[in-house]
Amino acid sequence: MLDELRKIVTEVSKSPDLRTALDIIAQRVRSVLDVSVCSVYVLAEQTDEHGLTEPTLILQATEGLNPDMVGQVHFGLEEGLVGLVARRAELINLENAALHPAFKFVDNIGEEPYFGFLGVPIIHRGEVLGVLVVQTRECRRFSDDQESFVVTLATQLASAIRHARASGEFDQTVDQSDLELAFSARGLPGSPGVVFGTAVVLDSGLSLESVIDQPVNDISAEKDALHTAINAVRDEFEQLKNDFAGITGSQDENLLFDAFIMMLKAGSFVRSIEQRIEQGQWAQAALRDAVAEHAAVFEQMSDAYLSERAQDIRDLGTRILHKLRAEKAEDQQWPENIVLVGRDLSASHFAEIPTEKLVGVVSTTGSGSSHLAILARALGIPAAMGVADLPLNRLSHKEVVVDGYRGIVTVSPRGSLREELTRLVEEEAELTEELAGLRDKPARTLDGVDMAMHVNIGLLSDMAPSQTVGAEGIGLYRTEVPFQIRTQFPSEEEQTRIYREALETFHDKPVVLRTLDVGGDKPLSYFPIREDNPFLGWRGIRLVLDHPEIFLTQLRAMLKASKGLNNLHILLPMISAVDELEQAKGFIHQALEEVSEEIGFVAPPRIGAMIEVPAAVYQTKNLAARCDFISIGTNDLTQYLLAIDRNNERVASRYDALHPAVIQAIANVHRDAANQQCEVAVCGELAGDPLGAVLLLGLKTDSLSMSAGSLPRIKWVIRNITQSDAEDLLKQALECERASDVRALLTAALEARGLGGLIRAGR
Ligand code: PEP
Ligand code: MG
Repeated sequence: MLDELRKIVTEVSKSPDLRTALDIIAQRVRSVLDVSVCSVYVLAEQTDEHGLTEPTLILQATEGLNPDMVGQVHFGLEEGLVGLVARRAELINLENAALHPAFKFVDNIGEEPYFGFLGVPIIHRGEVLGVLVVQTRECRRFSDDQESFVVTLATQLASAIRHARASGEFDQTVDQSDLELAFSARGLPGSPGVVFGTAVVLDSGLSLESVIDQPVNDISAEKDALHTAINAVRDEFEQLKNDFAGITGSQDENLLFDAFIMMLKAGSFVRSIEQRIEQGQWAQAALRDAVAEHAAVFEQMSDAYLSERAQDIRDLGTRILHKLRAEKAEDQQWPENIVLVGRDLSASHFAEIPTEKLVGVVSTTGSGSSHLAILARALGIPAAMGVADLPLNRLSHKEVVVDGYRGIVTVSPRGSLREELTRLVEEEAELTEELAGLRDKPARTLDGVDMAMHVNIGLLSDMAPSQTVGAEGIGLYRTEVPFQIRTQFPSEEEQTRIYREALETFHDKPVVLRTLDVGGDKPLSYFPIREDNPFLGWRGIRLVLDHPEIFLTQLRAMLKASKGLNNLHILLPMISAVDELEQAKGFIHQALEEVSEEIGFVAPPRIGAMIEVPAAVYQTKNLAARCDFISIGTNDLTQYLLAIDRNNERVASRYDALHPAVIQAIANVHRDAANQQCEVAVCGELAGDPLGAVLLLGLKTDSLSMSAGSLPRIKWVIRNITQSDAEDLLKQALECERASDVRALLTAALEARGLGGLIRAGR
């Protein structure tokens, strides 16, 4: 049964639409379980004659019942066993359904009553979407294995239905109405703002599996692209063959290269790619499917040598894909206003598009605290994260509207919705203009208390916007970003140049350079780390302490870059023990001595530890006693305190930096640091959240560091509130038991001061 299950799951995941997926499940389940009937009921809102809507289960696919009844049989949630399964959201397995009080006999549906009954709810993230039912003529109780088989398939159906709902296809399937692709999908807030743009969908990486479907009109151009790519790969193999023959004198490798070269000459492999292009698919997806088909043939061979050739075919396909991608990038026509859309996007994807045209970002994965969202905030463009239900294959070049406040993406809006969104975008533009006027004004509260406003940056290109918004220093330079966009570790000279530019640009202001913080969700392609629990693994300071050569190179570069400027602050990430801080300080002193010997006197930097791990919260006193400043990283602190992955959209709605536990921890850190007369900065995203900034003002944080895009908004908040009000709100927030209460309290406070436009779309 496991084999069957695997096959059905693959078929369902590949089915082109919901209708096909439903039919496949009904047919295959009926035959595998050898039952009389398999049916799928899907929950939809039905409007009655009084115009009231009712959730109704509608028969959408069946094998065994009268097929004419598809779309005709309806159950309310109070009706029959099917309704009961949906209402209880749990499976019901009955040997004789007719004996159950909820049993309801439906006429016309099939010839006779059925007795054996197994109904399984189709659930996606807690929401019941339908019911999968199997029935037998005879009395029969389904076994545990059969139950799990049906439950597994119901989970497959859940994602197919969710997907179809998001794309509007659901309405066509269930209501038979003729809707165009126009819909909204909800994810999580990523970066504030509302914007119209054209979707540019990028794959998550260079793998064949990640290639999306894309219909094409110009078939011959697509075929030309394919042949150019294939010829280029064939030339490379010819070259490799010659090189190898020269080195090894062996014939074995030549045989392999010859086999590849043969495959790339007109043959069944190339022909099968062409056929898919002729059916209207672009070359990359045609290649993906042809490779899968050919690899599957080899995989099924019993001869071990031959079955391993499947991997060769995939490698060959990946090589061709590289070439196709390179060609595509060269003659890509970019729309004027790009909304970048994809799954698992990262900083490196920004390099693939002209960033001056980028107006918004949408990711099907991640949350507001993912690094992609942080990057969008740095660029001051709206972002919606974790919008899991977007049909990426069908979005390319569609008009989309991103509401980054709520994390909502609207595709091809029309009518009154379009008018409403246009109004919001206009109001947003007014707000941005007003905020720009704050550039040279201080972040001073109504009762005269100043807050130092710093920016978080990751690339040198972030510095221009930082200056435009009037930042008073760099509060966090994520130095891993320049490492991430390179193909190898940057040299000491290269790093010195990068850091010097940052230190010089803000020469009379503090510049906090954080040492390399890779690991977790910040990979380096040239230093792969494979771990079961990367967020609890070799991250940040742990990694560089184990690699002094990487650490010392970076520290030397920072110190050299600071010569004569004296504004260098070195910040150490992921500190969880006093020993780590002391060891790191030891390396800083070693580097300082070396550099001073080489280039003359270099002023000692100010040294700070990040408080972003719960252990550090409880050691603030000891850490602060050994530091010049501490900086609270609320992103990781929230993640580790709440045990919620900051990038996982499944749990993202529970990730909240306003959680009372997080606020208590931040308050304790402030108290313990103040007792040591140690300065406190906050550089996590809470500092750039208008609600969070009020609390931090109440806590008398010394400086707030945030994305350049957030800075004017926070300045506006600070300029419109008094320190004493902020302290009062903090006191009330510390009494709250729920994040939602804290949020309601602070939202009301901002609305009362006319600052609601900072936390939602519209004035
Ligand atoms: C943080 O964790 O809050 C932080 C500022 O660091 P990063 O987001 O780069 O992990
Ligand atoms: Mg962090």
